[in-house]
Amino acid sequence: MKIARFSVDGRERYGIVDGLSIYEVDGSIFESNPEPLSTGWGLDEVRLLPPCTPTKIVAIGLNYREHAEEFGKSLPDEPMLFLKPSTSVIGHGDRIVYPGHMSRRVDYEGELAVVIKKTARCVPPEEAGKYILGYTCFNDVTARDLQKKDIQYTRAKGFDTFAPIGPWIDTELDPMDTRVRTYLNGEKRQDAPTGDMIFDVYELVSFVSRVMTLLPGDVVATGTPSGVGRLRPGDRVEIVIDGIGSLCNSVGD
Ligand code: MG
Repeated sequence: MKIARFSVDGRERYGIVDGLSIYEVDGSIFESNPEPLSTGWGLDEVRLLPPCTPTKIVAIGLNYREHAEEFGKSLPDEPMLFLKPSTSVIGHGDRIVYPGHMSRRVDYEGELAVVIKKTARCVPPEEAGKYILGYTCFNDVTARDLQKKDIQYTRAKGFDTFAPIGPWIDTELDPMDTRVRTYLNGEKRQDAPTGDMIFDVYELVSFVSRVMTLLPGDVVATGTPSGVGRLRPGDRVEIVIDGIGSLCNSVGD
């Protein structure tokens, strides 16, 4: 099942995507079986919104071996966490705003994102799946020069529009058996199997839940593979994950 948030006729709603149509959901998407109503629209008739409204995005640094190597960093012995603010979230088709007043170097980072289904605190890895609603595409946009300058990540990762997410949440994906690809202006720049993660999604959700309570709709971004690179105003960046779809955003001033 593919769950989206969308706006049509001036109202925001949750819906289930079926082919090229979207059907409004009766009740909450966090319940076990959200039921589609008969009210449907063509996907081209609605505006897709970020598929969830997280209270926080917990992102993981250096979770792919080759990405750690490209930055000359040693492999972490436990997940390295940082936060992105809820105000950095944008959806499929929205514009990433280049913060030219502060940064000269902004990068894309294609990632698989986990969306939390129910309140999770101190969850063991073998139980973590029960707390996951599904998976979506994520771009951990980063002002690389500020990340190096500030040492800690809050400014570099926290600008408005620096957390594109979507286009929808897939509830049936096997997170261990898919690929993350990033295309910049149609050219492939990142391509890795999620099986290459150092810590898998269940270990990550468990680890984070032992630090802070995860709430329904919160996001855990699972780290980027090698091949990160620069974005410039006018670029078009697309994160594609097999089994989910494609998250596409332009970059503007
Ligand atoms: Mg990242």
